[in-house]
Amino acid sequence: MFSKIRKAYQLFKSIDFEQLDKLSRKVDLPKVMDSFSKLDEKQLNGLMKMLEGGKPKRELPPINGDFYELHLRLSEEDRALQLKVRDFMEREIRPLVNHYWLRDEFPFEIIPKLAQLNICGLTYEGYGCAGRSSLMEGIIAMEIARVDASVATFFGVQSGLAMGSIYLCGSDAQKQEWLPAMQQMKLIGAFGLTEPEVGSGAAGGLTVTARKTEKGWVLNGQKKWIGNATFADVTVIWAKDVDDGEVKGFLVRKGTPGFEVEKIKGKMALRIVQNGLITLTDCTVDESDRLQHAHSFKDTAKVLQLTRAGVAWMAVGCARGAYENALDYTRKRKQFGKPIASFQLIQNHLVEMLSNLTAMQTLVYRLSELQDADMLRDEHASLAKVFCTLRTRDIVSQAREVMGGNGILLEYDVARFLADAEAIYSYEGTKEINSLIVGRSITGFSAFV
Ligand SMILES: Cc1cc2nc3c(=O)[nH]c(=O)nc-3n(C[C@H](O)[C@H](O)[C@H](O)COP(=O)(O)OP(=O)(O)OC[C@H]3O[C@@H](n4cnc5c(N)ncnc54)[C@H](O)[C@@H]3O)c2cc1C
Repeated sequence: MFSKIRKAYQLFKSIDFEQLDKLSRKVDLPKVMDSFSKLDEKQLNGLMKMLEGGKPKRELPPINGDFYELHLRLSEEDRALQLKVRDFMEREIRPLVNHYWLRDEFPFEIIPKLAQLNICGLTYEGYGCAGRSSLMEGIIAMEIARVDASVATFFGVQSGLAMGSIYLCGSDAQKQEWLPAMQQMKLIGAFGLTEPEVGSGAAGGLTVTARKTEKGWVLNGQKKWIGNATFADVTVIWAKDVDDGEVKGFLVRKGTPGFEVEKIKGKMALRIVQNGLITLTDCTVDESDRLQHAHSFKDTAKVLQLTRAGVAWMAVGCARGAYENALDYTRKRKQFGKPIASFQLIQNHLVEMLSNLTAMQTLVYRLSELQDADMLRDEHASLAKVFCTLRTRDIVSQAREVMGGNGILLEYDVARFLADAEAIYSYEGTKEINSLIVGRSITGFSAFV
């Protein structure tokens, strides 16, 4: 009797107020209750099933790439910003990235929208920048890359490499001139270090020259791969002073005579990022546009240390986006009459992906803590860059694998992550170069040459 009453109660609970109101106008509820008490268990179960529309739907667990709930370590304010960026990326960016990626074009309309988030130059003090933690900067890089690694790269060049060069190496006047407008993304920057014949060996081997003359500094040579260069308002050019042999930094303004940019076409990764081949032909820059505190490659390296940590976070975002996409897909895709997520071999792939992703996330969290405590060393950033970009390659390829043929179709997103991971793997120091930085630190022997 008790169980019958309980079932009747459950039954009424499954009816909403409106239905109950309608029901009470049509039937004598006490009488109905009395009838319920006369039904046997089977009849009651049948009735409940009927009212509930057959078998109740099984709720699947939420899709969450942050398996160890690292977000719980954030303050309420930081968590709110993380979710704001995620929402923006889902709403404004996800719907258009494949369109632009396929066409090898940049969605300029996103710049003012990104600016409104007020996340550019997040860690810098003053100049309109928020002076927030490196951890938050990393989380934002992850959130952007979780939806699209190209947009994260564009943003990283602007906020990290270009603004970072001015912030770390510029004079007060240079900072005042550029940083507030760049923070608001009214002016866009680029960072020119790599050359057609000099990539990994940039520290000692730059061939772009800077010669001081009465008219200013005359720059000659070529830079390759320079992100945002086709449209940037200012490009930081790193060049070797022919007089003292030291690397110096120059702020080359858009439209300066002798500064030509050709877009690099035919990339199979980060196709939204506009990379340029820059040719400098007697390009003359005022002394006031030489970065006043960049005296040697050591200063360039300070900028790279800052941004390399960000690239590790970006790799985490790319991997997380691929994992979450793949998990969602495997729960929806049916083969042999069952969701493929219910097969053991598919679960093995998913768990391997999640293990790597979780290890990467905990690593970059600690990396940022070191950075915030002013304890970050080159080898810390290099280790994270190597580990995260390597593991990202594994994750995106497993994500593609569990999606079968659809894994190589752009519309399912994972194909884009798969391709983009290749560029993240190579830029800001290859695996070999970053491993050599860590190797030198732990053995005491430099093995670069
Ligand atoms: C999409 C994209 C965007 C980029 N954006 C920018 C940008 O905005 N600004 C910029 O300045 N640069 C940019 N780069 C350049 C990037 O930083 C370089 O590609 C990278 O540093 C590697 O240089 P490289 O391509 O010339 O390769 P190389 O230096 O020619 O290396 C080729 C191979 O040799 C290996 N190797 C080299 N030296 C050693 C050694 N001593 N021991 C063992 N192995 C070694 C490398 O690890 C690599 O596997 C970008 C690159 C890409 C792909």
